[in-house]
Formats: sequence, C-alpha cells, structure tokens
Amino acid sequence: STPVLQVNDLKKHFPLRGGLLGGTTGYVYAVDGVSFDIAKGETLSLVGESGCGKSTVGKAVLRLFDITAGQVILDGERIDDMPSGTLRPMRRRMQVVFQDPFSSLNPRMRVRDILAEPIRNFGLAKDGAELEAKVAALMDKVRLPRDAVNRWPHEFSGGQRQRIGIARALAAEPDIIICDEAVSALDVSVKAQIVNLLQDLQKELGLAMLFISHDLAIVEHMTHRVAVMYLGKIVEVAPKRSLFAAPKHPYTEALLSAVPVPEPGAARERIILKGDVPSPINPPKGCRFHTRCPYAFDRCRTEEPPLRAVADALGEGHVAACHLHDLSPAENPLSGSKGA
Ligand code: SF4
Ligand code: MG
Repeated sequence: STPVLQVNDLKKHFPLRGGLLGGTTGYVYAVDGVSFDIAKGETLSLVGESGCGKSTVGKAVLRLFDITAGQVILDGERIDDMPSGTLRPMRRRMQVVFQDPFSSLNPRMRVRDILAEPIRNFGLAKDGAELEAKVAALMDKVRLPRDAVNRWPHEFSGGQRQRIGIARALAAEPDIIICDEAVSALDVSVKAQIVNLLQDLQKELGLAMLFISHDLAIVEHMTHRVAVMYLGKIVEVAPKRSLFAAPKHPYTEALLSAVPVPEPGAARERIILKGDVPSPINPPKGCRFHTRCPYAFDRCRTEEPPLRAVADALGEGHVAACHLHDLSPAENPLSGSKGA
C-alpha cells in the first residue's frame, strides 16, 4: 500500500547573508538529501544530536517553509510544490506536537476553544452539538476530565498541557502526527505517561507518526523503525530491534553506547567521539562523519558512502551509509550483533 508519507532526497539549504552588499555568501546545508517513508500505523523515529537537521526535516514536511530540492509526498500526492490554496486540506492531515507545552498553547483561549478551533477551521462538525461532542471525545482520548474544557492553559501541569497539545493535533483528524521532541521538556515520570498515551492513540487510530527526538531511551520504548541523522543526512535506517542490537553505522554505535541499559553489568562500553560536530556550512568531504569516526580509513576522506542495504541476521530493511560494509566480515567491526 502507499506510504502515508514519502520524503525523497529532501534538501533545505539556508542562505547565509553578509558582506557589504548583503548578498548570499554561502549556505547552511541543514538537510542535504534525506529520504524515508512512513506507513499507516507506523512510528518512524528521527534521531540525532541537536543541530543535525531533524527538526528542519519535520518543518519541511509540514511545509513551514519552501524546500530547496526533493519531494514530500502525502498519501501519494506531492505537497512540496502545491500552492498554499490547494495545500489547506493537506495541512489538516499532518499535525504537529511541539516540545514546549507552555508556549504552544494560546494562554488567552480556554481548552474548549483550543480544541474547537481546528474542528471549525477544517469544517469537521456540522453543528454546535457535534462540535461539543467532538471536543468531549478528544478530552476522553487524552484522558483528561471533560469539565476541564472550561479551564485555561495556565491551570494545567506540563504533562496535562501536552495532553491538550495532543488533543489539538487529533482534533484535525490527521493521518500523520509529527512529534518534535514532544516529551523532552517533561519530567521523567510524566514523560513515560505521555509516551504511553501517544503509543495507545497511535494504535487505536492507526496513525502514522514521525517521532523526532534526541533521546534514544525514549525512542527504544515506542518506535517501530529508527532513522539516524548526522550533519544533514540519514546515515542509518533500521527496524528498532536491529538498530539497537546490531547498529551498522559507527555514529549510531556511539550514540547507543551512551544509552543506559536497564540490567546492571550489561552496560555497553561507552564510545566517546573525538571533536565536535563540524559546521553544516562547510561539511567534510567524503563521509561527513570521517573527522570523528573511530574506524575512518583513506577512502572515507574522499568518497561519500551511499545509503544501502546491509546484511543483518535479525531482519530485513536495514540500510547504512558506511564503507566498512565493503570489507570482509572479519575486517568489519560492525558485522556482528552487539546484543548477543
Ligand atoms: Fe566511518 Fe568511514 Fe564508515 Fe564514514 S564511511 S562512518 S568514516 S568507517
Ligand atoms: Mg530540534
């Protein structure tokens, strides 16, 4: 079946302005050729350190700005080049839950109006009674008491506000929800509740979800597949189990080494990467990770590794962009499984 969302070779380059005439002096290569798809009922997590371009991907998909190149396809229809008039019904189908539940809700609107607004805007209720019933059903869905619709955002805790944010996203009856660090600002105990709620809702409603997060421990708990970004590119995509047990990209291996393991004694050996993430204004030639990769060899400095299928004993659909996979299994430090 057609994926709910397809992103093909997406690029977003922000021009840098400066100099005496204020002309373009270069570009920030924030997203530089990213492709993925998400099926109905599937969660794809987009992970990586801050500044890797993952939020820019989310915003590009939502068409919060024009993209530099590539395609964004929602349910088989290209939306990246759609004029804004035509885009309106498509916007309903993609909703977002932001990181900060304190700034994303209008403090001058009661919860009822916050939830009623998208229902009205998209013409989803035929009369006041249906509108009221839909608002009540949304409160049930996010497990908030119905009478809380009369209250103001400041009367709620961070976790409750995020429930309202989720209800507002659901009010539009979307096909896909984009969560950009949606639980990152919440206390640990609240985080788990919101993650469980998102998971339940996704199953119940058959939603597709793009879950943007830097927190691999949360991602491991709730995702189906994971895409790892580094400096504007996806370096690895795999089903969750494969990615966590047998990462096939050195960057993923390093990220995972920092994730706490529940059982004592089972801790992974921590890999500390040298140096900082290079600037996206002037990304390294060859493999972008070569300046920090513990396994880099000559070829990595000149030739960019394409994203391609890699052998994985745990299952299908594992792709990685790394020259190590051209070596024999004996020479390839990532040929095995970390979990075994
Ligand atoms: Fe490291 Fe080379 Fe693989 Fe890049 S291609 S991740 S530098 S081994
Ligand atoms: Mg971000």
